[in-house]
Amino acid sequence: MPKKPHVKVLSTYELMQMFPDEQSAVDYLTGILWPQGPVCPHCQSKQITTLQRKNYYRCRDCDKVFTIRTDTVFEKSHIPLHKWLYAMYLIVTARKGVSSLQLSKELGITQKSACGSLSNESASLAATKRRNSFPGSSRQTRRTSVVSKRTSTRTKS
Ligand SMILES: [Zn+2]
Repeated sequence: MPKKPHVKVLSTYELMQMFPDEQSAVDYLTGILWPQGPVCPHCQSKQITTLQRKNYYRCRDCDKVFTIRTDTVFEKSHIPLHKWLYAMYLIVTARKGVSSLQLSKELGITQKSACGSLSNESASLAATKRRNSFPGSSRQTRRTSVVSKRTSTRTKS
């Protein structure tokens, strides 16, 4: 029998320790999405100014303001990022899938928000796919694939 590759699954407790608040989740996602520093999601420029308001950046090329959420599945959501990560954890680790009701209970958000997040997520993924058909969006493909890879396991169950 072939040996399964060893994959360490975090416990819920470890996850909570890793992401006790929004900022810890922002820092984590920043490291994944922008390993070489912030990149403008609008024009892919690396000429970025950090704004006084925490976690906000301005592109010096196209002058647009953005955050780590801009142009990701998190963009339209008001749910704190650490709750998002927890939701993804639940979605990925649940054997029989996760309902919006279960998510709302676990995250302390309304079922409507949980429902909205799940459908926003699908809509954003669809939008991302459409965008990726335009030339010059290869960087974006790589950027969003980090997120979509995790969320896509939800549909398997
Ligand atoms: Zn820009």
